[in-house]
Amino acid sequence: MPSPIIINDVLKTAVHPLSNEDQKLILEAYHFAEKAHHGQKRKSGADYIVHCLHVAKTLALIGMDTKTIIASILHDVPEDTEVTLSEIEKKFGAEIAYLIDGVTKLGKIKLRGTREEYYLENLRKMFLAMAQDIRVVIIKLADRLHNMRTLSYLPPEKQNRIAKETMEVYAPIANRLGIGEIQGELEDLCFKYLEPEHYAETKKIEKTYLHEGEAYMNRVIQLFRNILEKESIQIIDASGRTKHLYRLYQKLKRHDMDVTQIYDFIAIRIVVPTVADCYETLGIIHREYRPMVGRIKDYISLPKPNGYQSLHTTIFGPDGRILEIQIRTQKMHDESEYGIAAHWMYTEKARPSWQNLFFHKKTSPTTLPKELVWVRQLKEWQKEIGRDDKAFAEGLKIEFFKNHIFAFTPKGDIIELPEEATPIDFAYAIHSEIGNRAVGAKADGKMVPLDYHIQNGQVIEVLTVREKKKPSRDWLSFVKTSSAKSHIQRELRHDEFEVK
Ligand code: MN
Repeated sequence: MPSPIIINDVLKTAVHPLSNEDQKLILEAYHFAEKAHHGQKRKSGADYIVHCLHVAKTLALIGMDTKTIIASILHDVPEDTEVTLSEIEKKFGAEIAYLIDGVTKLGKIKLRGTREEYYLENLRKMFLAMAQDIRVVIIKLADRLHNMRTLSYLPPEKQNRIAKETMEVYAPIANRLGIGEIQGELEDLCFKYLEPEHYAETKKIEKTYLHEGEAYMNRVIQLFRNILEKESIQIIDASGRTKHLYRLYQKLKRHDMDVTQIYDFIAIRIVVPTVADCYETLGIIHREYRPMVGRIKDYISLPKPNGYQSLHTTIFGPDGRILEIQIRTQKMHDESEYGIAAHWMYTEKARPSWQNLFFHKKTSPTTLPKELVWVRQLKEWQKEIGRDDKAFAEGLKIEFFKNHIFAFTPKGDIIELPEEATPIDFAYAIHSEIGNRAVGAKADGKMVPLDYHIQNGQVIEVLTVREKKKPSRDWLSFVKTSSAKSHIQRELRHDEFEVK
């Protein structure tokens, strides 16, 4: 059985002090979800609500806002219970319903990992489709994290598929969003299921070296504290950092499993108040201990692509042992652990406008506040995964969001369309015969006219007739894609020739 969890754990974990109003809302969501899931069990045997609370706790831990926490408590309600999304909307408002709807849709996307191109394409589309509100993706990550933590209760075949998908899709997303905390744990959990032997081997190496390294680490930390205090540098935190197992294994592999070649096996992290303190601390440490050539890295002046900032150096420490030192401010530290989620902590005031960025497509992306590191990350990522994809070269720009929408087939495939595209465009995008034979359409289960403007994220079902049929000339007046237009024209021309 997984460890018991109660709603108070979530409330206590929240990084932001929660107002009474927020606490009340979270409790309401909890009672609502508990009632909806009543009687449902997880494969582990635990009550279903336990899963929801674990997801909420992760989000509270990385500092997400109250609406995200509430949405996460309710995230499986529309999918798995009798309660509908519109009931949730009535009770908790449109924004929370929007987040839950996004999470549900994200869960329906089929990621066909067998062929690389499909995989990359779907990965990119999934991200773009949901980037309208990045909180949807973050909830999904926390959801996947808890599912991975409880993966042992599933049959081996499912374990393997889910672990593989997590390693290929979810961990890279966490990385791109800079949420190192979630990325590391996801990778380690996948590692355990995908490569059990290497996992065990790495774990053994870690245990041996970490154990004897721990006393040393504590001694060094105390030494550093004394030295820095003498120089009047305030230390917010100094602690040993253990390397995540999977990343340790990657490094070991590159060094023939020789642990003495891994200089950051022991790493000490020092958190100081200001950037100036960071450089001063580095100077003091270098004065006391000789640095290793070529291993001083200034990620403060030159942040990593995902926004990571710190000073790194490797020194010949006390007793001549080699160790890595990482120096950073509290803000840099939070951002490295919690990534874009940390922006809730530091851009409180910017939050409403932040939300507007993607809720309202009219906002020009060029006016994004500079500190939104993740927007930069997103661009980088698009560049990376789309680099062999000439057809989408145009789409590499962030402006892409402005005039593209993504709709889903009932089976979860994604169809990319221009804004104001109609079910006829959708039908031709799937197959010309589906276009020709279209007679009606449903959007999210409701009948809509054929000239309906599809909304981003909707599931579209095209109703067709069995027998061969010609498209209607009227369609030309409202279709948006050139491919639909040319298909219709070709069919009609063909028709005219036949008549003559
Ligand atoms: Mn879930």
